[in-house]
Amino acid sequence: MITLALMEDSAPSAPAPEPVAITAANPADRPVYVIGGGPGGLATAHALRARGIRAVVVEKADRVGASWSRHYDRLHLHTTRRLSALPGLKMPRRFGRWVTRDDMVRYLEKYAEAQELEIVTGVEVSRIERTEDGTGWLLHASGGRELTGSAVVVATGYNHTPYLPGWPGRETFAGDLTHAAAYRNGKPYAGRDVLVVGLGNTGAEIAVDLVESGAERVRLAVRTVPHIVRRSTAGWPAQYSGILVRRLPVGLVDRICRVMALSLPDLSAHGLPRPDTGLYTRARQGAIPVQDVGLIDAVRKGRVEIVAAVEGFEDGGKVVLADGTRISPDAVVAATGYVRALETLVGHLDVLDERGLPLAHGPRAPRNAPGLYFTGFTTPISGTLRELVIDAGRIANAVRRQLP
Ligand SMILES: Cc1cc2nc3c(=O)[nH]c(=O)nc-3n(C[C@H](O)[C@H](O)[C@H](O)COP(=O)(O)OP(=O)(O)OC[C@H]3O[C@@H](n4cnc5c(N)ncnc54)[C@H](O)[C@@H]3O)c2cc1C
Repeated sequence: MITLALMEDSAPSAPAPEPVAITAANPADRPVYVIGGGPGGLATAHALRARGIRAVVVEKADRVGASWSRHYDRLHLHTTRRLSALPGLKMPRRFGRWVTRDDMVRYLEKYAEAQELEIVTGVEVSRIERTEDGTGWLLHASGGRELTGSAVVVATGYNHTPYLPGWPGRETFAGDLTHAAAYRNGKPYAGRDVLVVGLGNTGAEIAVDLVESGAERVRLAVRTVPHIVRRSTAGWPAQYSGILVRRLPVGLVDRICRVMALSLPDLSAHGLPRPDTGLYTRARQGAIPVQDVGLIDAVRKGRVEIVAAVEGFEDGGKVVLADGTRISPDAVVAATGYVRALETLVGHLDVLDERGLPLAHGPRAPRNAPGLYFTGFTTPISGTLRELVIDAGRIANAVRRQLP
């Protein structure tokens, strides 16, 4: 049973699905299992239910939206409230345009309750196999559970397991070395010299947070200079542009973005030249642009110093940078991303590519694994939450077609 904080003024954007009879094709003892109770899993469970298909969400944490409750305190969505809501329940206007982390957590909890989703918390799925008769999927889960489903949707998250590079000498570093996943706020870093490693959205925001929290010195180690965009320009959110250009040719979008980027200050003198590769080309490779929430200003004022990438650590607390420089920060925050960690779950099914990403995504199940779906393993410039919602409906349609 999930405990919920009610949001009295939230209004459904679409009528909640009518309770429906479970069809013979999807009998009660063979539901569709949705692994993961994040936005992707919840939206897909809702879409399945709306089509009369019994869906059971299996979540390893003790609550839905667990990944959001772990994010750092100052986090706001960089996609708009309206385009970040899940199907069937609007986010209340009082959340503002850029929703806070806490409101997002409340919303997901409310969503699970309002949509009357069937959710099992505290159960981790460790392995998925085809049933012996080949008609369904067998899930091995914590506590020795074995669950048999007619189909499975894997929604375990793109940001599943924090990734910390195997820097040589890492263990010799006497200061604090923390992955961004464990960073909450800048308080413990006040008055200290901090190195943030990695300039993605998380690294950029943490660097600014550290400055505002009174860190004595903040450096940001950058290997590949990202594209930086304003979160909104004259009230027009960057996400809207991302949606509009999504289907245009990559080269054309790159050129449009190059022109738009000229409205941003040139930070070359501060160590952030404009990238050579186009924005959309990079986004298609998985490197989404960094939305400016104060970094540009902080870099221009010298409050965040850009330094070369980290190569390793040396005795005496030194960090070795790619240009040969040695620096001695008190603390390092590694905003170095996450891995999908799908190998143990489905690696044996031959459904992953060499980067560990699913070969088929959304409504397309891998040819050799009919009934096995993946959602949330892309990084679209139009906003992941928006795409998760679109994929939820498509996956539910595909499941409905698949069931006899
Ligand atoms: C810091 C940050 C900010 C972001 N901001 C935005 C934004 O502003 N707008 C936007 O559109 N996107 C944003 N994203 C990207 C994306 O929308 C979110 O990561 C979103 O939570 C993805 O939803 P998901 O359901 O795919 O994965 P998650 O939210 O990660 O949910 C996966 C769930 O699966 C559970 N789980 C994992 N493995 C198992 C298992 N084996 N068995 C059972 N349960 C399991 C986890 O506990 C988790 O609850 C952000 C991402 C991050 C990291």
